[in-house]
Amino acid sequence: DAKKEGRGRAKAYDPTMLELLEQRELLRRSLRMALEQQQFYVEYQPIAEGGCIVGFEALLRWHHPLLGKIPPAAFIPMAEADGMMPDIGAWVLEQACREAMKWPENYLVAVNLSAAEFLTSGLTDRISHTLDVVGLPPERLELEITESVLLERTVNNIDTLNTLNLLGLRISLDDFGTEYSSLSYLKTFPFDTIKIDKYFITDLETDLKSQAIVRCIVNLAHDLDMQVTAEGVETPGQAEWLHSVGCDRLQGYLLSRPLPVEAVDEFIKGAEASKSRARQ
Ligand code: C2E
Ligand code: MG
Ligand code: MG
Ligand code: MG
Repeated sequence: DAKKEGRGRAKAYDPTMLELLEQRELLRRSLRMALEQQQFYVEYQPIAEGGCIVGFEALLRWHHPLLGKIPPAAFIPMAEADGMMPDIGAWVLEQACREAMKWPENYLVAVNLSAAEFLTSGLTDRISHTLDVVGLPPERLELEITESVLLERTVNNIDTLNTLNLLGLRISLDDFGTEYSSLSYLKTFPFDTIKIDKYFITDLETDLKSQAIVRCIVNLAHDLDMQVTAEGVETPGQAEWLHSVGCDRLQGYLLSRPLPVEAVDEFIKGAEASKSRARQ
């Protein structure tokens, strides 16, 4: 049995554990060079409202020279723990704002903000500086933060969000429903949008609990004068259901997967063409 097997086999010598550790260390070392070696790039996933594209979410990607494409979940926590996220995030923000300058004037760009970035001093100055340098009006930028970024309802956190709000940009609460989900966040912080996590969207067509929760979040958001986005919408059935309960915006593979920057122009052309067809 397991007990007998375990004896005499010291865990520390487990070769797969060692390999894993080495891989992690390797990843960490190459992560430190990734920014200057220009291995990062950004993909853009469309966001729809009332059947029209209203903008894109910027999603960070890392192309490792040997390992290939590494998903953000595999390196962002590491970058955050090693204190690299403020620099990487600043790069994403500028890159995404520059890209957004090429889109139609009413399109917005949503950028994810990590906890480490949120807590750096001078965040609001740096963001407003980036907007100035790039020339993007603040109204076209939306910052996505998760509840874990805020952690506490400290005066500082509230100040930062209020200052960002005063700059004129929009703030959305990402992955709503999966973390602390304390309703006090909604009372204290000036969010413009709540993004419902795909955890509640995936089984929406069959799961009555998910339906009840999503319906409730949509109503709550509207009562609080906030918009709602559903993440991870993959089927027409989900989209229809979300439409029927008044969810404002949709995002997910149904519309499009995150697009490489070269494909964004073409996507916008298609979206604008179908918009003008609908108007005729
Ligand atoms: P997120 O901000 O909640 O982004 C949505 C994630 O869901 C993205 O994963 C996106 O590719 C994926 N997704 C979108 N539609 C669908 C769908 O229909 N089905 C499924 N199964 N997935 C869908 P991705 O790109 O792997 O990013 C994961 C997370 O990494 C993001 O979650 C965000 O928290 C973080 N992240 C990505 N880029 C950045 C960044 O530039 N800065 C920071 N701080 N975090 C980032
Ligand atoms: Mg996001
Ligand atoms: Mg999200
Ligand atoms: Mg999510």
